[in-house]
Amino acid sequence: MQAATSPESSLAEREEASVPRNLAPQLLVVVDTEEEFDWSAPFDSSARSVEAMEDIGLFQHLCDEVGIRPTYVIDHPVASQERGRRLIGEFASEGRAVIGAHLHPWVSPPFEEQVTSASSYPGNLPADLEARKLETLTTTIEENFSRRPTIYKAGRYGFGPHTTALLEDLGYTIDLSACPAFDFTADGGPDWSRWSAAPYWFGADRHLLGLPTTGAFVGWLSRAGASVHRAASRPPLSWAHSGALLSRSGALERLMLSPEGYRHAHHRRLTESLLARGVRIFSFSLHSPSLRPGCTPYVRSQAQLERFIRSCRQYFEWFLETLGGEATTPEELRERLVTTRTPPPPPPAPA
Ligand SMILES: [Zn+2]
Repeated sequence: MQAATSPESSLAEREEASVPRNLAPQLLVVVDTEEEFDWSAPFDSSARSVEAMEDIGLFQHLCDEVGIRPTYVIDHPVASQERGRRLIGEFASEGRAVIGAHLHPWVSPPFEEQVTSASSYPGNLPADLEARKLETLTTTIEENFSRRPTIYKAGRYGFGPHTTALLEDLGYTIDLSACPAFDFTADGGPDWSRWSAAPYWFGADRHLLGLPTTGAFVGWLSRAGASVHRAASRPPLSWAHSGALLSRSGALERLMLSPEGYRHAHHRRLTESLLARGVRIFSFSLHSPSLRPGCTPYVRSQAQLERFIRSCRQYFEWFLETLGGEATTPEELRERLVTTRTPPPPPPAPA
């Protein structure tokens, strides 16, 4: 297993995508669609149950009502089991949703690595193993959904040094793996804490589009966000204590556009802060098992599930109605950004 490398080096060759200034705020909704597992236990290759997928309609119906086509990035247990793929297959074939790929290496064949925290980030795997796992997942999705996926999101935001070439080889055009403001190095994962919310083109001919999960440091200390956060995470301080103090004072909050651990007030604060910084593209994300109480730490009871769905609805309605934003999908957005792309400079004239 190689040590985690920084996204700054894995994605050194990238260029920020130019987004028209007059573009209405764009909303992507991404569901990490996966097996139920014990989030507090070590990773287990045999945990492949997808019973919670029977409840996915609850979220789809909300999206249908407000006019959003969610993107379900699905992993191997979901793609390979009838129970996992049945409903989302229907939603996709009816044009109500989009399917992408999500690689959880510990439940994705071939199984050759020792399962650890570090190897749960697919970008940490040897290049060849990461390639064979993603190839298997891609083919499984293609066979069961009659369409080859073009959208990828690494499990645990684990984009690695070999991932770009791999996505190019397999025909992917969009990557959703970046997670700005969050640092997973303590667990062997990538450090996205200094990453920007802006979309970016990458790959040999820059035809891959990176669309980060929306997350950011917000508050008057936000420009120093990552370094203040790093200092606050070190003993004798800890983020749990100093983070709460900083956020109560309005100085610094680290927020993610997700109903998991964040409320509507957070979603609005994050969105308003990023809009003021010129960000136009927002990606709201959640995990499919959160739709069944007891499957993730965020939703433990029916009452919590109701609050969870309500906070999604509240944000979607606020974004689309009050803010005047538009719902989109990764592929629609890519088409739009391709047309506004600055053409590369012409080759030098022959001497
Ligand atoms: Zn996942």
